[in-house]
Amino acid sequence: MLVLVLNAGSSSLKYSLRRFDPTQPGAGGVKIAKGIVEQIGESEVADHLQAFDIVSGELAEVLGGRTVDAVGHRVVHGGERFTGPALIDNEIIRAIEQLNELAPLHNPPGVQCLRAATRAWPKVPQVAVFDTSFHRTLPEPAWRYALPDELYRRYGIRRYGFHGTSVHYVGQRAAEMLGVPWEKFDGVIAHLGNGASVTAVKHGRSVDTSMGFTPLEGLVMGTRSGDVDPGVLVFLLRKGYDADKLDSLLNRDSGFKALAGHNDMRAITEAAAAGNEEAELALEIAAHRLARYIGGCHVACTGAQAVVLTGGIGENSAPFRARLLTKLGPLGISLDAAANEEATGMDEGLRISTPDSVIEVLVIPTDEERAIAEATLALVGLP
Ligand code: AMP
Repeated sequence: MLVLVLNAGSSSLKYSLRRFDPTQPGAGGVKIAKGIVEQIGESEVADHLQAFDIVSGELAEVLGGRTVDAVGHRVVHGGERFTGPALIDNEIIRAIEQLNELAPLHNPPGVQCLRAATRAWPKVPQVAVFDTSFHRTLPEPAWRYALPDELYRRYGIRRYGFHGTSVHYVGQRAAEMLGVPWEKFDGVIAHLGNGASVTAVKHGRSVDTSMGFTPLEGLVMGTRSGDVDPGVLVFLLRKGYDADKLDSLLNRDSGFKALAGHNDMRAITEAAAAGNEEAELALEIAAHRLARYIGGCHVACTGAQAVVLTGGIGENSAPFRARLLTKLGPLGISLDAAANEEATGMDEGLRISTPDSVIEVLVIPTDEERAIAEATLALVGLP
């Protein structure tokens, strides 16, 4: 069975094609093709429709006359309605489109690709998999803002949480490594990429997470500010900033980019090691906030069995992990420095805490595309 996964980002379109053995649907299948169209809107590729045409051209060559059996789409925001993967039809696409204003950078490209793919392959079942749905189990004290109820009822202003597909996938791998069933797994999962978040998992369910109404809340990220006092926004509005200017300040010109001049973690850690004070401070600010969130999530899941690190930074940056783990000493965590150095670009998970560490620390590579393909297959069913 051939399953195509389309992952539309704000300025990119990634695809991956997998072949599944019908007798082993949970084994992840075999990746037979993948690709990416980047700089959409900033190059000769004007929009995601054009990107989709490029992708379908590349796929036609790989497939050579065969057709795919199912398509899985990553959709960032599923609002309150989509608590799990959804089989696509026109009504579902319209419902996802209505959520566009909640995620203006990410959902519209996803919707464009959903439309293009259902037009291109009308007979192929297609499934939307949402970044928010793993967080459907957040208890109300974790998802409510201390704002008037009317804002929730009228606009849906509440905390949703993101990175759910990755967190769920990595969490299940962590439970396997610990030898505990997923339903008994309690842990803190930090997805640290260009976007970054921390999630508290209790008994295999999300009970708290650092991202909120949008993927802007929480940690210091590549170009996003994470938490700032909302009073700063009011102040800047009074100084003449408008919505667009605030949006691009907080989403594109903040985070590591603002603190260290750019968002390449490898270059930042190298600069800090060479004595660059800005880079050093940027890393300290990010690690300080992350450690604080991990401590909070440890409490929220009533005591983690493991802290799990994933995403481009979590999987690859030994210096940043070491900096973080020294700050987690009060939780009884201790770092195995040699294992930490070893854990870079791996296919499998690795423990980077010492045997006497009170909480295990695991580095586990995420694979959102595999998780989306498996979720798609689970909904569509095997032939
Ligand atoms: P992601 O969004 O998950 O692709 O992660 C992107 C982030 O991972 C960027 O900040 C990169 O600088 C960082 N990253 C990727 N590879 C490495 C590496 N080998 N060492 C340090 N950081 C890395």
